Amino acid sequence: MGKLQVELADRIKGLPPYLFAAIDQMKQEAIAGGADIINLGVGDPDLPTPAPIIESLQKAANNPANHQYPSYVGMLSFRQAVADWYKRRFNATLDPKTEVLSLIGSKEGVAHLPMALINPGDTALMTDPGYPVYEAGTLFAGGKSVFVPLKIENGFLPDLDAIPPEVADEAKLFFLNYPGNPTAAVADRAFYDKLVAFAHRHNIVICHDAAYSEIYYDGNPPVGFMEVDGAKEVGIELHSLSKTYNMTGWRIGFAVGNSNVIGALGQVKTNIDSGIFQAIQEAGITALELEDAPLAAIRHIYQERRDVLVSGLQSLGFKVEPPKAAFYVWIPNPAGISSSEMTAKLLKECAIVTTPGNGFGAAGEGYFRMTLCVSTDRLAEAIDRMEKAGIRG
Ligand SMILES: *Cc1c(COP(=O)(O)O)cnc(C)c1O
Repeated sequence: MGKLQVELADRIKGLPPYLFAAIDQMKQEAIAGGADIINLGVGDPDLPTPAPIIESLQKAANNPANHQYPSYVGMLSFRQAVADWYKRRFNATLDPKTEVLSLIGSKEGVAHLPMALINPGDTALMTDPGYPVYEAGTLFAGGKSVFVPLKIENGFLPDLDAIPPEVADEAKLFFLNYPGNPTAAVADRAFYDKLVAFAHRHNIVICHDAAYSEIYYDGNPPVGFMEVDGAKEVGIELHSLSKTYNMTGWRIGFAVGNSNVIGALGQVKTNIDSGIFQAIQEAGITALELEDAPLAAIRHIYQERRDVLVSGLQSLGFKVEPPKAAFYVWIPNPAGISSSEMTAKLLKECAIVTTPGNGFGAAGEGYFRMTLCVSTDRLAEAIDRMEKAGIRG
């Protein structure tokens, strides 16, 4: 009888192709062709998870009590470790019982949050460029995405005054992310103060994605959203152990803030997943209680890489400044070349994988993104290849 003709749901048909899957395919083709690829595409730390965290997992994995279903909302001891970490890092006070929720990575929180807040036809605001999952999660909930452009002249912060009030009044949710992927922009306290006032004025739940708050340079930790007065009244912050502790494969993150939003997200999750393997949560506690030295060492490595890549790009005539945080460099294309042309050119002529800016939204056109997740030697080699190929900014 042959294979059933499957009629896909509209929410799948409406999805743009997942950006990194497309890049990965291009990369696989180049590898199959024998190229020595330098992958500056996906933001996935190449450094190992610090040893005490791995040892903690090994120990916890031996405990049969950890082999059963975990608590849906996360072990209280893990949520307490999150609250303690927030107190130490941001001087923010959180109730671990009602204002902290464990997540299977922050991506999971992004994807499920709209299900808790968005009815079909409702709108969510999100920055453009931005992390593609904000749009996908909104679409899955039947919502409509409204993109707020990030411009270089505003330091890649959204101009809240430029959002038409009637658009803001309609919106229920606003996704933002600082330090930013892909722009590496950092928000300051004045911006967050304005954001809290904006959320109150238009009754919008803020979802601040802080995946990169601990990847910072020159000894300057960025201000956190939960640090400013009133943040907890208007929204939540999503966080992750992925980027901070080189734990992308472990799948552990958390949401903190407004207890109504946290509770609603927890309700969605209770019906979909069954929490994080408890041994991983035990290791997560070890991570959050880690002294600063291993993290300072990781930051030092990224900073050296940043300096090699940025000075190399500058020597080729690209107009880039060293990012203050995150492991991304957001680079204007050479004149007359589109983002996807630039990415294809770098792959074809230099075997360098990068990400086209327009993959993060229409306002990302004109840029491409390089990551700092390879060694300084490889970054220097990338610059060398670009120079030999005559690629200049
Ligand atoms: C990497 C990343 C995430 C996802 O992190 P996980 O915790 O591994 O799911 C979320 N948001 C942004 C902006 C990211 O770059």
